[in-house]
Amino acid sequence: MGLLPYKNEPYLDFTDEEVRRGLDDAFKQVEGDLGKSYPLRIGESRIDTDGEIVSVNPSKPSQVIGRTASATEREADMALSTATKTFEGWSRTTAEYRARIMLRAAGIMRRRKLELIGWEVYESGKVPSEAVAHVAEAIDFLEYYSREMLRLKDGVPVYSLPGEESRYFYQPMGVGVVIAPWNFPLAILTGMSSAAMVTGNTVVLKPSESTSVIAAIYADIMAEAGLPEGVMSYLPGYGSEMGDYLVSDPRTRFVSFTGSMNTGLRINELAAKPNGQPWIKKVLAEMGGKDAMVVDDDADLDSAARDIVLSAYGYGGQKCSAASRAILHEKVYDTVLEKVVEQTNNLNQGQPTEPGIDLGPVINHDQFEKVSGYLETGKGEGELITGGDTTDPESGYFVSPTILGVNPRATVAQEEIFGPVLSVIKANSFENALEIANDTPYGLTGGVYSRNREHLEIARHEYQAGNVYFNRTITGSLVGVQPFGGFGMSGTDSKAGGPDYLPQHMLPRTVVERF
Ligand code: NAD
Repeated sequence: MGLLPYKNEPYLDFTDEEVRRGLDDAFKQVEGDLGKSYPLRIGESRIDTDGEIVSVNPSKPSQVIGRTASATEREADMALSTATKTFEGWSRTTAEYRARIMLRAAGIMRRRKLELIGWEVYESGKVPSEAVAHVAEAIDFLEYYSREMLRLKDGVPVYSLPGEESRYFYQPMGVGVVIAPWNFPLAILTGMSSAAMVTGNTVVLKPSESTSVIAAIYADIMAEAGLPEGVMSYLPGYGSEMGDYLVSDPRTRFVSFTGSMNTGLRINELAAKPNGQPWIKKVLAEMGGKDAMVVDDDADLDSAARDIVLSAYGYGGQKCSAASRAILHEKVYDTVLEKVVEQTNNLNQGQPTEPGIDLGPVINHDQFEKVSGYLETGKGEGELITGGDTTDPESGYFVSPTILGVNPRATVAQEEIFGPVLSVIKANSFENALEIANDTPYGLTGGVYSRNREHLEIARHEYQAGNVYFNRTITGSLVGVQPFGGFGMSGTDSKAGGPDYLPQHMLPRTVVERF
């Protein structure tokens, strides 16, 4: 296929008046579509269920975004049967055929970009400048994985013995259960499912309970792009009600999961138990983080402070890559902290549909309660330096950007909070800072601000994180540019948006013929 080389989808500048007008029109369009109902999609069937999931705007919980059906084990069974049947035909289609469908989906998303940004703003409480990046990421996944599949479609070279031909190529695996989180409700869902499908597998797609409406729109886009019925079932539902069933069922060949550590570990354990299936299930799990920015004593302190604030509070700290710890060398601790506090206090928090807002609410009532609990814990463990306020949750799940001064072993410096809460920690040397950075069960992203070449080289090898960034923000990984995924309890080391990702969805096969 004669495609242009891959490049990342550009963002939009909402300070440009014309772009802003377009966005306001998109908001109106989304407002007009709020409150609709979305059935399950299993093969050609559209199924309403007794129970439903009501998705609300986290900035204004009285506003219903939409209602989706809520699958139980019964519908999970139907979806797995359909995926098993459809696999027979889909797995035999060509890579080009599948890539064209993904590329068409990318084209549709590009044309509907502003509307998709609107849905992210309303359903996930994201400000438009974040939403644009996350919609672009969804498009990037489709474009990148299509090209990756075309690169891998005939396998990769191996050596042959004299008089023989050795071939090494990939074949699809089977039925994949794709389980997604709410924080990148379009991008991660698109990335995980398109990787599974472009490699020839069929998918049962279980979105997060908090963002099932965006997932329904994604399922529509895939249908419009020409994805045959049954290749991907749209199966919203409560993880606690049907998650275990999907994971344990013997028809499931692999699980592709992004979410919290506890859910990921449970999935990994359940999938490993024999349940009559003639294979060892594969689990790709992308889990939480407790990411840190280390600031050395010779660093550019203005840039370090700016990038700590950007990394800590972008989307209210609800990114797995968010900086939730700033580890500052004692010689620069006071200066950096002062700058970080000043910039944190200048952040504008409010309704993400309004211009000039830096961060909105946390995603839902449970998360609001959880983050509020950590604020209390943090106050007991250390010093509340700024923030710590919450609103009445009935008017929106807002938690103000907060800084806590704590020691490295404090609960708030060890556990993932997933909100706008930054723990600041003092280190007595660069080596000590790196030790502190590495001293959590996680290992997703990490940053170092330093001008010291020796220190950067040490961190290049010794920082135990899947994505390490020097002298910049630690969030916002770009597909194909910064393949993303963590070590330790942050996941199974699969790097989304990178060259090793697709082969994890396929079975490598060696065929040798002697002539
Ligand atoms: P979560 O673990 O609560 O839920 C994730 C998904 O798992 C949801 O769809 C949920 O319904 C489902 N689920 C829940 N119980 C299940 C079960 N028993 N079986 C099967 N599925 C089940 O996570 P969340 O709150 O949606 O997402 C936030 C978490 O995701 C954070 O920990 C964050 O760090 C992590 N995350 C990681 C990455 C990464 O790339 N490493 C990216 C984004 C988010």
